[in-house]
Amino acid sequence: SHLEFPLTETTRSQSAEDRATVLAKPGFGEHFTDFMTHARWTAEDGWTGGEVVPFGPLTLSPAAAVFHYAQEIFEGLKAFRHADGSVWTFRPEKNAERMQRSARRLALPELPTEDFLASLTAQVAADEPWVPAAGGEDSLYIRPFMFASESFLGVRAAQQVDYYVITSPAGAYFPRGVQPLVVWVSDTYARAGAGGTGDAKCGGNYASSLLGKKEAAEHGADEVLFLDSETHTTIDELSGMNVMAITNDGRILTPELTGSILEGVTRDSILQLARDRGLEPGEQKMSMDWVTDRIAGGEIVEMFACGTAAVINPIGEFRSPKGSWTVGDGGSGEITLSLREELTGIQTGTVEDRHGWLHRL
Ligand code: PMP
Repeated sequence: SHLEFPLTETTRSQSAEDRATVLAKPGFGEHFTDFMTHARWTAEDGWTGGEVVPFGPLTLSPAAAVFHYAQEIFEGLKAFRHADGSVWTFRPEKNAERMQRSARRLALPELPTEDFLASLTAQVAADEPWVPAAGGEDSLYIRPFMFASESFLGVRAAQQVDYYVITSPAGAYFPRGVQPLVVWVSDTYARAGAGGTGDAKCGGNYASSLLGKKEAAEHGADEVLFLDSETHTTIDELSGMNVMAITNDGRILTPELTGSILEGVTRDSILQLARDRGLEPGEQKMSMDWVTDRIAGGEIVEMFACGTAAVINPIGEFRSPKGSWTVGDGGSGEITLSLREELTGIQTGTVEDRHGWLHRL
């Protein structure tokens, strides 16, 4: 299909003053822009009806399948304003492809890459005044999502599906800013198992992560690290970020893609930037005991979490029922911060985009 997304009504729901107040301190995921972009899929007609409409509540049947069987997927990426006023996003084809993989796993219809990209362009064009000013790291977070809207309680793939894009100005993901995280290692709860949906970006994975996050908070931690579901020994990922380690012999290690972790766009980009600097990337199975031994022995010198929302965030300490481990000196590692600066520099247009990762909206 070649969807078009005409803007159906141009009245803004929020004043320029209210917008300026939000943009002065955006937070994360709290404020939404004036418009949303929509298309519908039916088994009969495929994708139809692209439109940009005022942001507002949806009317859905209480029998809509998504409420009962969680047939839902989403994506997350950001738009950045450059110094010349232009607006760019980062590797959106990767998000389009990941959404197609998620759709296959959840028996949802695939949205072609060109339609995904057109929906981002239409949404950000309508809400252009909401893209934060250049010069900082603030961005406009873009949240495309798709769900089963058919009113039917039988358990099967829905024959009517809605796709929306909403946007939200974004500052720091963690309320404390870029400060070393305390990470709780959950040996009780797993987020995904073999053959499950761990490598799909579906709402259910996040629902199953929440109790682990709660447990983390009860132990004074900012985030939870999930281990594999079978042996509870090898590292998978955090609730919404991948995890990486830097060793004192110039390697950057991260869990391999086993099907139970999400293939992060940030993860892939950092592995490339690390390779460019002569760090040797290693995608491998890592048990938590192996990692904590190497943290204690000083071979692992830095660790960090990475994802679109948090970019790169140092990990200062792990806590588990077995004990606690301080990574390096517990502060923000030098390589971690410099990779963060390079990546945000590329995204915001102050560092050369030598891999052609930026896409103009
Ligand atoms: N893992 C999980 C579970 C996530 O939700 C995310 C965020 N999408 C990531 C990893 C990082 O992915 P990305 O770098 O594409 O944002």
